[in-house]
Amino acid sequence: MTSAHSDPAPVTVRVPAKVNLELLVGPLRDDGFHSLSTVYQAVNLHDDVTVALDDDWGCTVSGAGTDSVPTDDSNLAMRAARLLHDEIGLDAPVHITIAKTIPVAGGMAGGSADAAAALVACDRMWSLGLSSEELEEYAAELGSDVPFLIRGGTAVGSGRGERLAPVLARGNFHWVFAISDIGLSTPEVYAECDRLRGSAPVPEPTPSTELMSALRSGDPRALAAQLTNDLEAAAISLRPELGEVLESGMEFGALGGIVSGSGPTVAFLVEDVEAAIDLTVALTATGTAREVRKAVGPVHGAHVIPARVD
Ligand code: ATP
Repeated sequence: MTSAHSDPAPVTVRVPAKVNLELLVGPLRDDGFHSLSTVYQAVNLHDDVTVALDDDWGCTVSGAGTDSVPTDDSNLAMRAARLLHDEIGLDAPVHITIAKTIPVAGGMAGGSADAAAALVACDRMWSLGLSSEELEEYAAELGSDVPFLIRGGTAVGSGRGERLAPVLARGNFHWVFAISDIGLSTPEVYAECDRLRGSAPVPEPTPSTELMSALRSGDPRALAAQLTNDLEAAAISLRPELGEVLESGMEFGALGGIVSGSGPTVAFLVEDVEAAIDLTVALTATGTAREVRKAVGPVHGAHVIPARVD
C-alpha cells in the first residue's frame, strides 16, 4: 500500500440507481445505437465506491449477486478511473472498492452508477476541481446512462440518453422494485425490439408533455398513467414471466408498473410509504421475485460521503 505522507486520502462516493419513467426508442443510428428519448429518475438504492491510491490497479466488489461483476479492467468503475488517470497524465494506480446494493444486471444502471461514482471520487482524491459539465463529458465516453448518474434528480436524456436536460418534479415518488434472477441482456432486448417492429419506419422520439405535467404536479396517480417503456414488450416477449410480475404488482395495489430499462427488474409506483411497505410484503409473499426493495426518488446523483469504516 502506498503510504507517503503527501498521498491523498481515500474518497468514498455514494451513487443512486435509476429508473426510466419514459423510455422511447427511436430509429437505429449509423453508429449502432438507437436514438432515445428517456426520462430518468434517480432512486435511493445505492452503491458506495471508494477509491484509494495503491501500488497496483485493482478492484474489490461486495454485495448480493456480485459474482458476475468483473474485477479486472472491464469493470466500469475501473474504466472510469483509468480514463481520468490517463487523460490527466498521472502515474498513480488506484484500488477501487465497490459495496453494491444496486441489483446487478437489473436494468437499473448499476455498472454505469459505479463508473459515475469513480469519476467523482477520483476528481476529489486528485483535487482536479473538474466542473459538473466536464465530469459529464467524461461520463458520456463511458456509457449512455453515466452522465445522469452524476447529475441525479429527474432529467430528460436524448441522443443515446447521454444529453441531459433537467425536469421540474415536485415532491417524492415511492417505488417498489421486483428484482428477479431472469437473465436479460440489454443488446438482446434492443434486438428483440427491432425484430418486433419489423420494417415499419420509426419516428424520432420526443418526451411527452403529459409526463412532464404529471411530474410538475407531484401526483403519483398522474405519473403512473404516463409510465412508458418501448422496450417492455421486447423484454416480456423474451421472458414472459415479467408480464406475470407486472400483473401481480397491479393486483396488489400498485398505481402503475413498468419494466425498468431493459429489465428484468420491474418497477411499481405506489401512493405513499405505507403502500410501498404493503406492496413489498405482498410481492415478497408471492415469491415471484428474488428480492423486493422499496425506494424513493428523486435523489441526488453521485456525491462524496464520509469514508466507510469497515
Ligand atoms: P443497464 O441498466 O445500464 O443496462 P444493468 O443495470 O442492466 O445495466 P449492470 O448492473 O450495469 O446492469 O451490469 C451489466 C453487466 O455489466 C454485468 O453483468 C457485468 O458483467 C458488467 N459490469 C461491469 N462493471 C460493473 C459494475 N461496476 N457493476 C455491475 N456490473 C458491471
